[in-house]
Amino acid sequence: MKDLSARVLNMAQMRGASYADVRVVNRTIQMLGVKDGRVQEMIQNESQGFGIRVIADGAWGFAACSRDDYPDVDATVNHALQIARASALTKTRDVRLGAPEANKGTFRSAYKMDPFMVSMSDKINLLLKADSEMRRMKTNHAHLVTTAELVFVREEKTFGSTEGAYIQQEILESGCELQVLATDEAGGVQVRTYPWGRHQQTRGFEFVLEQQLVENAPRIAEEAIMLLTADPCPAYDATTVILSGNQTALQVHESCGHPIELDRVLKQEASLAGTSFLTLEKLNNFQYGSEIVNLTADGTVPGGLGTFGYDDEGVPAQRADVVKDGRFVGYMTNRELATELNLGRSNGTMRAESWNRIPLIRMTNINLLPGAWKLDDLIADTDDGIYFDTNRSWSIDDKRLNFQSGAELAWEIKGGKKTRLLKNPIYTGVTPTFWRNCDAICGESDWVVWGTPRCGKGQPPQTIRTGHGASPARFRNVKVFSKS
Ligand SMILES: [Zn+2]
Repeated sequence: MKDLSARVLNMAQMRGASYADVRVVNRTIQMLGVKDGRVQEMIQNESQGFGIRVIADGAWGFAACSRDDYPDVDATVNHALQIARASALTKTRDVRLGAPEANKGTFRSAYKMDPFMVSMSDKINLLLKADSEMRRMKTNHAHLVTTAELVFVREEKTFGSTEGAYIQQEILESGCELQVLATDEAGGVQVRTYPWGRHQQTRGFEFVLEQQLVENAPRIAEEAIMLLTADPCPAYDATTVILSGNQTALQVHESCGHPIELDRVLKQEASLAGTSFLTLEKLNNFQYGSEIVNLTADGTVPGGLGTFGYDDEGVPAQRADVVKDGRFVGYMTNRELATELNLGRSNGTMRAESWNRIPLIRMTNINLLPGAWKLDDLIADTDDGIYFDTNRSWSIDDKRLNFQSGAELAWEIKGGKKTRLLKNPIYTGVTPTFWRNCDAICGESDWVVWGTPRCGKGQPPQTIRTGHGASPARFRNVKVFSKS
């Protein structure tokens, strides 16, 4: 890898690049799936290649080459330079990257059991067992479709730059999902997933074992069946809502994670999630939430799906404040925009889906820091409200202000107790008003770094894996209703 990296960087420099970096990536994905008691999917894909970014004539160029085409290294470097020189024709200023990042180092995800070394039969048997535990709950009036999935990813990547950086990383991910689709003759359709759609972390097979898929399978099947005959969520213009940890994670992703991407703020990027209401004049000058709301962009949190050693510009992973005591204090940045806006060093959030995509500002782990409550105490402290559990649907405007979110299930809370299961619950709000009405956040014991493995951005689209540390939280004066 070192030879290829040095060769590419030398070529780029000799041919006039003022800066170049190269990522050599080898990515393996294994996907295993069971549906209704049968093995549905056993796939392993491997993808190898490199991507080169150059600055020439003050503008960016990017090109990539698969391993099969390595004889074309020369042409790939030329291609990146041609794109840079063509881009320079329309530039408004030269790209500046600030102080050099000549980092050298290695990083490896912390894992105990390498999932690629666990036997295929052990993995498939786990899925078949969980699937049969879901189907065991079938009743006469409910038809069930059940699926169980495991996903494992290994990414080995080497980063080198003409500034002298040389970094080797091995990122390992393990993910799992159970799903029950329950239908009845009246046309009712209900879904329950576990842990929350697909949950994923940068850990080994021990992560999957800790999720206790077999033990949780009958419960979610039972809940899906109960939801078919549950009462619809009542409509209130303003009530108290408690969001489960995973629903809070989704709320953070959509209403905080995307609007703090600095390229969206500057309208350089609007694909798939729009721009942002968190415009530059609001930095350090805007009450995003109540005083108990603290959010960080943290590429270092153990096990997070957005955890790594260095980003795809070779900048070390960092923990940066985003919202402090309710005040908006920071964006996710890259080297170019941090320099342009005098924001200091990049906080290390440039990520590419693979070798053949250019890095973009992407969420790392956007975390809502834990408060002091225990979930049981929080429910006991709530006279009248609704507990929303596990996201089912989501919609938000392209400034990330007005949103609406549906959960798989909800519980009515009366007099401090969960009293009634409710189906098709939806809550709606406006981002800062919603977060300013947050009056309680649960503590460390309820705090999980939830993984969102399918965040989309860019043209061509890139799917990236992000993490969100979150615990259940309470919000006042929230409008709720039921999906018709
Ligand atoms: Zn997203």
